[in-house]
Amino acid sequence: MGASSVLYNSIVTMTGLKDAIKKMPKAELHRHLEGCVRVPTIIDLARRHGLKLPTFDATELAKSAKLSGPMGSLAEVLGMFELAQSAFVSYEAVERITFEAMEDAFAKETIRLLELRYSPDFMLKGKGLDWQKALDVMLGAIRDFQRNRPFFCGVIVIASRSYGMESALKTVDFAVKNKSRVIGFDFADDEINYPSSLYAGAAKKLHGAGIALTVHSGEEGEYTQVLDTITYLNPRRIGHGVKSVEDPSGRTLELIKEKKITIETNPWSNYLTRAVERLEDHPLKKFITAGVSVSVSADDPQILDTDLNKEYLLAVEKIGLSMDDLAYANRCALAASFLPPEIKQEAAKAFRAKM
Ligand SMILES: [Zn+2]
Repeated sequence: MGASSVLYNSIVTMTGLKDAIKKMPKAELHRHLEGCVRVPTIIDLARRHGLKLPTFDATELAKSAKLSGPMGSLAEVLGMFELAQSAFVSYEAVERITFEAMEDAFAKETIRLLELRYSPDFMLKGKGLDWQKALDVMLGAIRDFQRNRPFFCGVIVIASRSYGMESALKTVDFAVKNKSRVIGFDFADDEINYPSSLYAGAAKKLHGAGIALTVHSGEEGEYTQVLDTITYLNPRRIGHGVKSVEDPSGRTLELIKEKKITIETNPWSNYLTRAVERLEDHPLKKFITAGVSVSVSADDPQILDTDLNKEYLLAVEKIGLSMDDLAYANRCALAASFLPPEIKQEAAKAFRAKM
């Protein structure tokens, strides 16, 4: 009886926690559009456009489209991204995927401020679609979705480092050309072979154009990469930053604090890619204790089979955050958002509104 009532109470508490988290209006800063493609959408678009898929059965395809446990190999994950990427087959597809990403965020996760990022060169490679027109379509979908909802969304442009310098520079020029329409820029993927020092000139150009910068850094490799990112690129935010806590001198964390850099953490993503061996080892709580500005994000919700509700729940149950810590991370996210100040003020009202 005693044991079962303890069990009952913990189930009630868990349901209460889940419920409280679901209802919390949230700000999401680190989410890739290419990681937001629903499996039934991949199938539907493949059918309409006569594309090949390993299977047209949603349950079966999910096995090759979603990572269910820590990755066996990088090739396995890259294959999943390729499947999702294949869906960006037309402007209508770009519009639909953008819409569905917002719909999931708004309805399922109670996200009220969303920053969606995408790599034009990756997303549109081999599709014969125009970068400019694809961005116009995305921004149009965002405008329409926001019209009657307390929802605020902006787009960050990514340079995929592994696509080489020419691609990165082309992407920087594209962002500069669209500086009044996109909210920020990001350098993502393979930091080991394409270190931040390579992009110092590109970052200068972005800073000169007044484009806010975030950088995927310290997800794998060494904490020194995070130091290099700060030195060479001077970003306002860093994606992942897991390795920064491994600096034995503590200097890296100090610098992050001094420079008021926000770390966009992605706990479940870091566990699946083995950036941390166990969720319990994730440095999110350490960042908060050290007084660093942090946000909690889902990275690629469809591919990593996660969402912000799950990330928040794991942060409490596995990483030791309190509800106050979650509220702190959410406030940090709102404050560190690249959306214009007047839009952030509007978003703050949606956060205060009773759900
Ligand atoms: Zn990411």
